[in-house]
Amino acid sequence: MSNFDYDLLVIGAGSGGVRAARMAAGFGARVAIAEDRYMGGTCVNVGCVPKKLYVYAAQFGKGFEDARGFGWDSNKPRFDWAVLRDNKKTEIARLNAIYRKMLDGAGAQLLNGRGSIIDAHTVEVGEQHYTAEKILIATGGWPHIPDFPGNQYAVTSNEIFDLDSFPERLVIVGGGYIAVEFAGIFNGLGAHTTQLYRGPLFLRGFDVDIRAHAAREIAKSGVDLRFEVNVRSIRQGAAGLTVELTDGNQLQADAVLYATGRKAHLAGLGLENMRVVVNERGAIEVDAQYRTSEPSIFALGDVTGGIELTPVALAEGMAFARCNFGGLQQHVDYEFIPTAVFCQPTIGTVGFTEEEARARFENIRLFKTSFRPMKHTLSGRDEKAFMKLIVDVATDRVVGVHMMGPDAGEIIQGIAIAMRAGATKAIFDTTLGIHPTTAEEFVTMREPWMED
Ligand SMILES: Cc1cc2nc3c(=O)[nH]c(=O)nc-3n(C[C@H](O)[C@H](O)[C@H](O)COP(=O)(O)OP(=O)(O)OC[C@H]3O[C@@H](n4cnc5c(N)ncnc54)[C@H](O)[C@@H]3O)c2cc1C
Repeated sequence: MSNFDYDLLVIGAGSGGVRAARMAAGFGARVAIAEDRYMGGTCVNVGCVPKKLYVYAAQFGKGFEDARGFGWDSNKPRFDWAVLRDNKKTEIARLNAIYRKMLDGAGAQLLNGRGSIIDAHTVEVGEQHYTAEKILIATGGWPHIPDFPGNQYAVTSNEIFDLDSFPERLVIVGGGYIAVEFAGIFNGLGAHTTQLYRGPLFLRGFDVDIRAHAAREIAKSGVDLRFEVNVRSIRQGAAGLTVELTDGNQLQADAVLYATGRKAHLAGLGLENMRVVVNERGAIEVDAQYRTSEPSIFALGDVTGGIELTPVALAEGMAFARCNFGGLQQHVDYEFIPTAVFCQPTIGTVGFTEEEARARFENIRLFKTSFRPMKHTLSGRDEKAFMKLIVDVATDRVVGVHMMGPDAGEIIQGIAIAMRAGATKAIFDTTLGIHPTTAEEFVTMREPWMED
């Protein structure tokens, strides 16, 4: 047994930190975990979980309208923001308690308070100093609002879930998946939603066809989508907020949501006294084993600025615990990580975009289809699904699958398994479809896409 208070002290009880702490404790390590805000971190409290609950709420809005074509004499009921918000709070409190119980059950000690690193083996939490052989930084990310006049009136994803009253007029600034998802949520709940993005097309990093299709579908769904425009200033007046835009236009809003990016959460961590290297993007630099340049200090999850997704932080937490406390060598395989954007309809994607595939493979073949999902033949909704396969001609492997359509997240999860198993286009072709589904199109696309 070492002379330290703990074998491992984790700072941050989010996705990665909790998983690492629980697994290390399971291997017999003496573990403490410091958390100053909420159990379960961003995902549970202000990320994936409340977001998905609000997406379900938003989908009802469309559902009531779509039902009419199927014979339901449905007048759209009134939406009550306070009910949704407060039910969400109750559910999150339940999850917080489960997280706490899981840590207790694993034998990890919870230290309530902000962790600040004093030296390579000491962390201050509250007034107390604790020593540990290894320190793991898993403090995640934090939303960032740029400097401009009136930026104090903007809110971020940290606050938007808990607004006192429903924003009937919402302006969302940003073009990443979080901005797109909130636009879908508030548009579906009935807010007049405007989304602003400074570039020519949002969802940078996604396949170009998906980006273009999403722009069309989201605009059709009622979001006032505006590209190549930014906010100059926000003023508060008697009738709400006035948002001045760089194109000279003005918007009136009840709330302005900034979703223009997140930064590694390093505030008060005490890194300035340490050898831990923070890169030019403001994230902690680590090697493949999540070691910082200080041998006893490790970091993983969003704070390292990698792929900012919960399953990635979980996988890193597990690999860290197995390597350091379980005597196992395990690396996270970052190839073919599937992901979804929970807009309406949903985007699901895994593998290379067309642009990436062109740069990586000598010859690729594309398969694309776009159609009206069966449900909307009767609902009358003007909504189209889009699906795309990218195949490496040399090996026939499917190296990119992108979709926007009903249940895309659920569908792409299954496709990702096939892709990781090395599925070729020939295997897709000999797989029988499930009829009638949207997903069956993935195994019936026979003709390569020809450019016009
Ligand atoms: C709006 C939104 C939607 C998202 N949706 C999805 C999604 O659908 N799917 C998905 O996979 N990912 C989603 N994400 C991303 C996902 O939430 C993160 O990738 C994930 O939570 C990262 O886990 P982490 O362990 O690195 O950090 P976090 O989960 O952020 O946890 C960090 C924890 O550290 C605590 N902390 C920080 N500093 C200190 C300190 N000094 N002392 C003590 N405690 C500290 C924080 O309070 C926090 O609890 C979403 C994120 C947002 C913001």
